[in-house]
Amino acid sequence: MIVAEEGHSVTIQKEKNKCTYMPSGRTHDRITLWTLPMVAGLTLAITRNSLPTLMICAGYLFGGLMLGPDLDLHSIHYKRWGWFRWIWLPYRGSMRHRSPYSHAPIMGTTLRVVYLLAWLGLAGFLGIALSNELFQMGWTWEALGQGISQFLQRYWAEAIALCIGLELGAFSHYTADWWVSSHKRRKQKKK
Ligand SMILES: [Zn+2]
Repeated sequence: MIVAEEGHSVTIQKEKNKCTYMPSGRTHDRITLWTLPMVAGLTLAITRNSLPTLMICAGYLFGGLMLGPDLDLHSIHYKRWGWFRWIWLPYRGSMRHRSPYSHAPIMGTTLRVVYLLAWLGLAGFLGIALSNELFQMGWTWEALGQGISQFLQRYWAEAIALCIGLELGAFSHYTADWWVSSHKRRKQKKK
């Protein structure tokens, strides 16, 4: 059984009789927003360029507030997807909360990005097929593929900066989860 209470400073999770503690969605949000100026300042100091800084910050916010690791749970991240939250149901259903597939560095973000791209690909596929059918747009898959590859060739650096931002946003989450649960465990042992 999973019991997760949002809105408190700490969420208590009871799963198979073991109790773990982790920050709530709102605490994660605060961490993301408070550390954003630091991420922006460091990126600007390293790159001395506003565009990669903007892309990393956009990725950091999206990775921390929307595409967060807690999409594996009925969480604040999940609820933020509004009408489209159902797209995350198969993701949620296929793993337990805090599994390495959602909460391991690199792997968690990679899986979520691939998963989201798969849905976007499906939506694009249906959109093009419907437009061709209803409005005789005459769009071909070849032209679409060429358009995407040209876009990536032109904006590969920005795409990489966005991915780094996404990973950093998720990384602040993993770090907070790890810090709070190990701190609480230490406290419990002392009692
Ligand atoms: Zn988490």
